[in-house]
Amino acid sequence: MTSEEAAGVRYVLMDIDDTITTEGKLSAAAYDTLWRLHEEGLKVVPVTGRPAGWCDLIAREWPVDGVIGENGALVFWEEPGKGGRALRRYFHPGAVPNDHSVLLRIKERALAEVPGLRVAKDQFARLFDLALDFAEEEPVLPLDQARRVRDIALEEGARAKVSSIHVNVWMGDYDKLSMAEWFLADRFGWRPGAGDREVVFAGDSPNDEPMFARFPLACGVANIRRYEGLIRHTPLFAASKESGEGFAEIGAALLEKRGC
Ligand SMILES: [Mg+2]
Repeated sequence: MTSEEAAGVRYVLMDIDDTITTEGKLSAAAYDTLWRLHEEGLKVVPVTGRPAGWCDLIAREWPVDGVIGENGALVFWEEPGKGGRALRRYFHPGAVPNDHSVLLRIKERALAEVPGLRVAKDQFARLFDLALDFAEEEPVLPLDQARRVRDIALEEGARAKVSSIHVNVWMGDYDKLSMAEWFLADRFGWRPGAGDREVVFAGDSPNDEPMFARFPLACGVANIRRYEGLIRHTPLFAASKESGEGFAEIGAALLEKRGC
């Protein structure tokens, strides 16, 4: 990335699991990087498969300008209100509540056909998607089992993406990218095309692929190499370090090239 490109960046978007977290924990270095990007005046927006319930906390307590959750089903952000702060919430018009009969059928089939698979423990905090855990907790299942779950979901007519920990399954026509584009345009006046190089996105896994394909300044943390064969559109830039350390490396490089 050149200094001119870095100077033109206005938005830094990032996946959460295994991009800013390391073995499940948000490291001090990664969290500090979020603060430094925020204090530089960049719009900081996590884009995650994590649930609505987590996004409520993140929007209120982290140094961010919004958070996109459940793989694009929703975005929460804070606005200064009259004498206080106000949490704003937008749900994708195509989002379908996760008690849908197709999702219930997929859950039954996947749990029966993939031994060791389980419903993610954060499922109670979700509004729209079904998260099936293959790697957040034990037993960690091989990626081909995650792919099998994804294929069951697709066969049954749902959408599905494999993250580094879960297979997320949902009804409705949206993904991380479509909600990110809507939010940047509606909230900040970002323009697709002309603004493409104003966005840096950092991610690590196949559910980040629409973002890698869309933004020319997208970055991967080093662990993205685990998914060779599952990702067709890889990011142009990759950190030498994995997970949170890699994100800190990406943030430091961006800030340094901006002369910070
Ligand atoms: Mg991830």
